[in-house]
Amino acid sequence: MEKKNDIYRMIPRVDSLMEEPLIREMTEKYGYDCALHGVRSTLEKLRERLGACKSAAEAEKELEDLPEKICRALARWAQPGMTRVVNGTGIILHTGLGRAPLGKSVLQRAAETAGGYSNLEFDLATGKRGERNAHFERILCQLTGAEAAMAVNNNAGAVLLMLSALAGGREVIVSRGELVEIGGKFRVPDMMELGGSKLREVGTTNRTRLSDYETAVSEETGAFLKVHTSNYRIVGFTESVSVRELAELKERTGIPLLEDLGSGVLIDLERYGFCHEPSVQETLAQGADVVTFSGDKLLGGPQAGIIAGKREYIEKMKRHPLSRVLRIDKFTASALEAVLLEYLNPESAAESIPALRMLTMPAETVRRAAEKLAALMREAMCCEGGSTPEAPAAVTVESSAARAGGGSLPMEDIPSFSVAVAPKEISASELERRLRSLSVPVIGRITDGKLLLDLRTVEEGDIPYLAEQFRDGAILRKGGMR
Ligand SMILES: *Cc1c(COP(=O)(O)O)cnc(C)c1O
Repeated sequence: MEKKNDIYRMIPRVDSLMEEPLIREMTEKYGYDCALHGVRSTLEKLRERLGACKSAAEAEKELEDLPEKICRALARWAQPGMTRVVNGTGIILHTGLGRAPLGKSVLQRAAETAGGYSNLEFDLATGKRGERNAHFERILCQLTGAEAAMAVNNNAGAVLLMLSALAGGREVIVSRGELVEIGGKFRVPDMMELGGSKLREVGTTNRTRLSDYETAVSEETGAFLKVHTSNYRIVGFTESVSVRELAELKERTGIPLLEDLGSGVLIDLERYGFCHEPSVQETLAQGADVVTFSGDKLLGGPQAGIIAGKREYIEKMKRHPLSRVLRIDKFTASALEAVLLEYLNPESAAESIPALRMLTMPAETVRRAAEKLAALMREAMCCEGGSTPEAPAAVTVESSAARAGGGSLPMEDIPSFSVAVAPKEISASELERRLRSLSVPVIGRITDGKLLLDLRTVEEGDIPYLAEQFRDGAILRKGGMR
């Protein structure tokens, strides 16, 4: 195109755009700096697009309604980026999707107490300074049988604090089979180094015996550490040392026995058909002095690192400067207390805590939910109902495998059911992308050219919303949705 410079000269000046009534409105709404930024960035993109225009008519089109375009861009930018999503992945503790969903009652408690002033660190009985851990410490002790307990920002922080406070500057004996990386940069040897303790590896990757621990004990030993291997399992020719066996060695030597439990279950999951997973109370009863675990994995609460065990060790940790660095905020403290209170009745906890409900829901219940969604989807897609040959997709219910996720119960497929959508005009990955761009995004996964929505992780209340997205099949048509 010739006369490119003439085209560029048609771009309005920033100051004249700022005087436009629509932009003035934006200035009132978002402030001057933000509006100015919106104008500048839109003009920048406009220049680029003008450069790519092949005709004067095309360029003129780009220059049309500039204030409106700026307003739209600004409004988009100023919208919250963080949004609720529908989890159709079947991964219950999906790290990318925020791990454990919090129940309504827990959120309500947190909103009520943390929304205004609270007695977070104020003792109402004495009118003096209180302790933020006190609110949930009594419940944690009741539930786990521990003498004392506290919580920090996350389990990685809990492990770091535990190692720093109890074994800083000394050796920590760990089995080679437990020197794991949990993901997201949590590596046991790194935590050790950060905590200022020296790693003393014993045994081999697949086999470690009590005698390996025993011979490693020296004047330098600060602690024995056991680590739940979480997202990883060694099978076959293996041998490891139980907490119970180590407890005996600990008694003899007086060296503290610490365990990073990772997920930290409080209820008996065997009752729901899962393999045995050592619970927090069981690990403490078998002789661990201190255990740490996450608040937002199988516990089903807010992000936190919970520490429970012998009073003398917990007190030492509470006094350590890192406990100030890693302290939890009022939202977490209040939500954690609320979740822990639900555990006072373990049976109703499996119902009322969303992560546990999803985990323990019978497969038959999931199948019924999938059938319901499939029927509603078919009905929405083509008004006559049913999967007619003209329907823009085949919708079926398939059995699938859900997962606990978050490095919890890693080896276990949880029997589940998914709605499988096989679009006829567009690809499954295009449908996956379109679902992700909805106002409440829907996250599914693709298997064998079909989009799968696993109903184990979909809240029942979201089923009508999901079906509605398939109204008239527009989302499945070529060019039906950008
Ligand atoms: C998940 C996990 C961690 C990290 O916990 P966060 O709460 O994510 O910080 C540490 N150790 C083990 C064994 C884990 O499974």
